[in-house]
Amino acid sequence: MFTATSQTAGGEKRGQTQLPITISEHAQEQWAKRTPAEISLKNAWEQSVAVEAPEADSTAARLYPPYNALLVVQHTTVATVLNNDGRLNTPDLVECAACGDLVDPLEGDSCPWCGENRAETARPGRVTLTRGDI
Ligand SMILES: [Zn+2]
Repeated sequence: MFTATSQTAGGEKRGQTQLPITISEHAQEQWAKRTPAEISLKNAWEQSVAVEAPEADSTAARLYPPYNALLVVQHTTVATVLNNDGRLNTPDLVECAACGDLVDPLEGDSCPWCGENRAETARPGRVTLTRGDI
């Protein structure tokens, strides 16, 4: 049976912290070199999931699972792009049962990478409310 997943089509999936981020030239070069770069680094950043990368010299990092690309942030700049070597702390992420890529369980009911509906798998007890009107 299909459940109603109406909010998808437009791609409006906010919810992760949106930093005012800039992308360095070096990161652009590494993105082009180390990934198929079928989408822009900026788009990949917006779709990527936050991870901890203790091995990388970074203030933050995000993973773009389709390319296994680690986007390394220093302050508010995407400084470089690395190939994820597996040394990540990803306590907040779960592996999609269908494709094995890491997904943020708070992001919604379907895997952003393969589209598999994850509603029947474990759901965290956390609740996030995002309201624009303050
Ligand atoms: Zn998946």
